[in-house]
Amino acid sequence: MTLNTLTAHELFDLIKAKQTNTKSIQAALLDQIQKTDHKVKAYVRVFENGETASAPETGIPIAIKDNICIKNTETTCASRILKGFKPPYDATVIKKLRNAGTSFIGHVNMDEFAFGSSTENSYYGPTRNPWNLDCVPGGSSGGSAAAVASHEAIWALGSDTGGSIRQPAAFCGVVGLKPTYGRVSRYGLIAFASSLDQIGPITKDVTDCALLLNIIAGHDEYDSTSAEMAVPDYTRALLKDVKNFKIGIPKEYFIEGLDPEIKSAITAAIENLKKQGATFKEMSLPHTEYAVATYYIVATAEASSNLARFDGVQYGLREQPFPARRTPLIDMYEETRDKGFGAEVKRRIMLGTYALSAGYYDAYYLRGQKVRTLIKNDFDKIFEECQAILTPTAPTTAFKIGEKSSDPLSMYLSDIYTISANLAGIPAISIPCGFAKNGLPIGLQIMTKPFDEETLLRIAYTYEQNTDWHKRKVSL
Ligand code: GLN
Repeated sequence: MTLNTLTAHELFDLIKAKQTNTKSIQAALLDQIQKTDHKVKAYVRVFENGETASAPETGIPIAIKDNICIKNTETTCASRILKGFKPPYDATVIKKLRNAGTSFIGHVNMDEFAFGSSTENSYYGPTRNPWNLDCVPGGSSGGSAAAVASHEAIWALGSDTGGSIRQPAAFCGVVGLKPTYGRVSRYGLIAFASSLDQIGPITKDVTDCALLLNIIAGHDEYDSTSAEMAVPDYTRALLKDVKNFKIGIPKEYFIEGLDPEIKSAITAAIENLKKQGATFKEMSLPHTEYAVATYYIVATAEASSNLARFDGVQYGLREQPFPARRTPLIDMYEETRDKGFGAEVKRRIMLGTYALSAGYYDAYYLRGQKVRTLIKNDFDKIFEECQAILTPTAPTTAFKIGEKSSDPLSMYLSDIYTISANLAGIPAISIPCGFAKNGLPIGLQIMTKPFDEETLLRIAYTYEQNTDWHKRKVSL
């Protein structure tokens, strides 16, 4: 058993027993990356010398999504427009990881600016699903999930605006957690949609997920939306006990379009948790059908505003057309944006700018925000009666590379089960719950009320401890 195939908690135990050290783990990872990353293409940048911690290294090296700033290290959001951008500061999560003695193994691939569900929208080209190299790893944190699944990383950070941690975790057979909005600082996360974005862990099991959340969670004076609330020790929530938990099953999530194999895997998971003492009740999230439309108004509106800063002046790329067209400054803006942004980014900036423009603001953005409140109220209502909600993470298993890239709408629909948690600000986790006949992993999603990551982890842990899905290893 090589070190890179172990979990972080197993490695912590070995380090404590002086049977291994950070350097050896790092070497095993670099070796695996060399052997397999030409197939998977999870990394966009490997830090050969280990972008090392300032503290003595006691931590487990981690892979970082390419939208999280590491000081003096190129960070590009997988976009040409940020080519050469080296942030002069660390994201708060990076600072916290350094303080925990962690080193960084590299930046991993993503959809450009986290716009996508497949990691095909990357300037660097697509990442592949380790379980089937013809398939996508999901997105936008596809590099993070593929790196963990292929044992090119022990664990990773991703970001989730509408499902970008959970859907790739499901597609790659690993664990992914989107924390409550405000639980983890967004300082140094290059913004997509500021009212929806959260950084979170992608790991091999639920225990590692709790350990990583312990490191990154907490209030941050640099992020005014981060919550001033104490951080519990999440490992204390790892109890194999769900007795007295009542779990809601939203009927709107089990409709046409849900792959029957996924449906039966979820039904089996429900039976499993029933045996552990949980009770289930069919519930309703009546505004579910509006979630995707609402999300694509709110998210693109915020994105169009956030991306206005990329104009060739302050960050990364700068282009001038030749011959000149109008005035040098306007030419430079236009040429930089034209050459720097990919097609999906341009599409979303146009959509968002339209939704925010005078005359349309009330009809689109304002109405979107109102529907968002209705969606949140649906969840509040279930949580009056239930401690958690259980659903599939995605309606299908990983699709083929290229299958949806010419049809943005069908791509947008693959987020149908994950988007509502971001709109409502609640925490949600995806854990492995089976494999389809085609050999691809299936994910189970659990959601709880805001700041109740403990219940989330406890139910996930109980299920995991009664199953073996998380132990299946990819062979590449
Ligand atoms: N797939 C969704 C989108 O394309 C969500 C992306 C994300 O969570 N960053 O916007």
